[in-house]
Amino acid sequence: MSKIVVVDPGHGLPDPGAVGNGLQEHERAFALAKLVRDVLTRHGVTVLFTRNNERSLSSASNLKTNKNEDLSTRQRFSNSKATDFFLSLHMNAADNPSANGYETLCYSQNGQIEALHASVKVFLQKYGLKDRGIKIRTNLAVLKVKAKAALLECFFITNPKEAALMKDAAFLLEFAEAIGQGVLKAIGIAYVPVNKPVTKPKEEVKLKIDDANKVIRILQDRWNASTDANEKKEIGRLADEVRVAAGMKKVNG
Ligand SMILES: [Zn+2]
Repeated sequence: MSKIVVVDPGHGLPDPGAVGNGLQEHERAFALAKLVRDVLTRHGVTVLFTRNNERSLSSASNLKTNKNEDLSTRQRFSNSKATDFFLSLHMNAADNPSANGYETLCYSQNGQIEALHASVKVFLQKYGLKDRGIKIRTNLAVLKVKAKAALLECFFITNPKEAALMKDAAFLLEFAEAIGQGVLKAIGIAYVPVNKPVTKPKEEVKLKIDDANKVIRILQDRWNASTDANEKKEIGRLADEVRVAAGMKKVNG
């Protein structure tokens, strides 16, 4: 049976989540979620989304009620499946526009959380981005699901540089790859890099042996008919060239 990962794009209208630098958290979380899904499904993992469009999972008009219903529906959804890992994707925000970095939130730390964080950390180091570490949060509703769960605060939407990165398609693709790799590690599946170069032995172009023998027979007829020693020698040389091209041994030295 394939492993099940519930991917939870944070927020959903009427709650856009944090906003800044022309971005809305719910929208970026959804974009990233789709890329992470691609990485996981590539490895045979069944990926289920808590929300499949930009709306929250509640129709309540009161914002607070909407939020509460939305979060408890996400929780119930994950608990109703044989979820192996629950991954919630968010972006951070702060009043100070220079606040920056990535962090992994969890209800309690274990090897799975550490594996996920370690994978993202390699990515952060490559880009020179700040690792804010693993943080325990026992008050977050989505982290109280039955499955092991992590909430990723994917950089600060209020930081112009990080917001620009979260708009960059190539950056997001690589970031999703790092997150996916970490989740795979957490659920015990070996990660296979995308576009892994396949080293194929060079195909040798060879003359087919049947064809070579036909050509050699024609050359032999010509050799038999010839009375010129030089011509006979040249025909013998050509016959050997044909043999070599077909992977056979020379017979005329
Ligand atoms: Zn959020």
